[in-house]
Amino acid sequence: MKRNKAKAPRYRRILLKLSGEAMGGKDGYGINPQAIKELAAQIGEVRQLGVQVVIVIGGGNIFRGLQGSEQGIERATGDYMGMLATIINALALQDALEKQGIPTRVQSALNVMQVAEAFIRRRAVRHLEKGRVVIFSGGTGNPYFSTDTAAALRANEIGAEVLLKATKVDGIYDSDPRKNPQAKRYDQITYLEALQRRLQVMDSTAFSLCMDNRMPIIVFDLFKPHNLRRVVMGEKVGTLVTG
Ligand code: UDP
Repeated sequence: MKRNKAKAPRYRRILLKLSGEAMGGKDGYGINPQAIKELAAQIGEVRQLGVQVVIVIGGGNIFRGLQGSEQGIERATGDYMGMLATIINALALQDALEKQGIPTRVQSALNVMQVAEAFIRRRAVRHLEKGRVVIFSGGTGNPYFSTDTAAALRANEIGAEVLLKATKVDGIYDSDPRKNPQAKRYDQITYLEALQRRLQVMDSTAFSLCMDNRMPIIVFDLFKPHNLRRVVMGEKVGTLVTG
């Protein structure tokens, strides 16, 4: 008799890049506990499949160094403020995940030992092996970088199979779909095409790091229920960027 074998997830270890905007709900600012709860539920779904989940979290809902510098704050100081913002987001997400019974550890590239472990790659991997979700905060720990670059860096470092970039649109378009109703969505695109066409998937530092190390990127809409699960199961969701 044939047994009905459940389909296995496509990936064993993923890195999910969440922008700060995702933590702010509809308006994208501040902390929106309901939005964070929904994010946590989606993360819980894939963890239940046995997938190891690493999250790199942004801070744009609270502060961005570049915006600060336009208002007179020294760029590097503003960038450190932005990195600190990511730690606030990480704590909020950890709280939401643990409320749903998902053990979570926060690591930070900046030392804040009362609230987060220091970033230690091997320790992070151990957490994953024990079934814990790991949130990387503090970006790369350096000004003039972005959390997208931190995501590209960490994805490679911890051996993720894919970098999942969560956005509010369902993939990469040839122009802004919110402004142009004729905008065309790509199912798949190469790193070079995305770079040459300046499609602004991620900043160029993040992007080249993925390109040089052949780290596939999937850009998808995390705000559709169960979408993260669909991506992890290998369904065609969003846009795949590869070599
Ligand atoms: N940042 C930084 N170095 C890093 C990561 C982040 O200086 O390695 C600062 C930078 O000022 C950035 C802010 O932290 O604007 C928040 O991060 P990001 O803009 O990447 O967040 P997101 O757009 O994902 O919400």
